[in-house]
Amino acid sequence: MSLDNFGIVYKNKDLYDYNTYKVHSIVNYLIIVSNVVKLTNLIDYLNKNNIKYFVIGNGSNIILTSVYDGVVIKLDMNELEINNNEVTVGASYMLNRLAMDTIEHNLSGLEWASGIPGSVGGSAYGNAGAYNDAIGNYIEEIEVLENNHIKVLKKNDIFFEYRSSSLQKRDLIILKLTLKLKKGSKQESLALVKDRLERRLASQPLEYPSAGSVFRNPEGLYAGKLIEDLGFKGKSIGGAEISSKHANFIINKGNATGEDIKELIQLIIKEVKNKYNIDLVLEQKIID
Ligand SMILES: Cc1cc2nc3c(=O)[nH]c(=O)nc-3n(C[C@H](O)[C@H](O)[C@H](O)COP(=O)(O)OP(=O)(O)OC[C@H]3O[C@@H](n4cnc5c(N)ncnc54)[C@H](O)[C@@H]3O)c2cc1C
Repeated sequence: MSLDNFGIVYKNKDLYDYNTYKVHSIVNYLIIVSNVVKLTNLIDYLNKNNIKYFVIGNGSNIILTSVYDGVVIKLDMNELEINNNEVTVGASYMLNRLAMDTIEHNLSGLEWASGIPGSVGGSAYGNAGAYNDAIGNYIEEIEVLENNHIKVLKKNDIFFEYRSSSLQKRDLIILKLTLKLKKGSKQESLALVKDRLERRLASQPLEYPSAGSVFRNPEGLYAGKLIEDLGFKGKSIGGAEISSKHANFIINKGNATGEDIKELIQLIIKEVKNKYNIDLVLEQKIID
């Protein structure tokens, strides 16, 4: 059987344009899949042939290594339906775009998400959030592919916590989310968005490729402060550097590899443990 049956297939593809760190990563195949039947057939084929794979959203929370010996699946499922304050959206729809679309409908809740360059699927998976809010607070149900069967998980079936969810403990692919937002005012929401974006611009190194915060904040502490207090701002390995603007960001200064980023992460984890006896937990996912 040809892989072309399952979607748009790229062989020996460099995922440079598919990750916000902008690292080069050659994968055996990148397959863009636009419907559930094809996705189900593809997963079946990969399982039967023992081929390893992972699902990528917008690649804004992952660390790719130089070579991945398997298949990368990217969904192209972008439907959007807004009925009163209930929103149903396909997994590959961009979260920041959804925030603006819902504001246009005078719905409030996702203002914090403007500036987050992820898909809604990837965002639900890791419970993306900011300013004490997160996507998990709005999810009513999620349609997933689990054991290659379509299932609907209700909000009570899913556990969301700070930058993590029970979805990460299951082997599933998110297909569609239904969110419940609040009635709001477009003007007030836009003012909040402006404030959030200005805060990001002032505090984050947005002029360089990155994948946002590297570590989760330990309870009551800031990972960035711990790293800064080690004197690590500006420290680099290869092309990867701990940002001088925000120490919980690793930036690509031009030619970083995923391996450079991983090495820098190992160094931070080791030194934070030595100095503070704290085990930092990675927010980003290493794909290797
Ligand atoms: C400048 C910048 C600022 C950021 N600010 C924030 C912030 O304020 N708050 C925050 O939480 N994050 C932030 N991030 C990180 C990132 O944008 C979010 O975590 C985002 O939700 C990740 O979505 P993604 O689609 O890019 O996921 P990816 O990076 O593509 O994937 C992340 C994980 O989700 C899995 N995944 C993706 N799609 C699916 C699917 N359909 N089904 C199953 N698993 C899936 C992947 O396999 C992977 O394990 C920032 C990143 C950048 C670059």
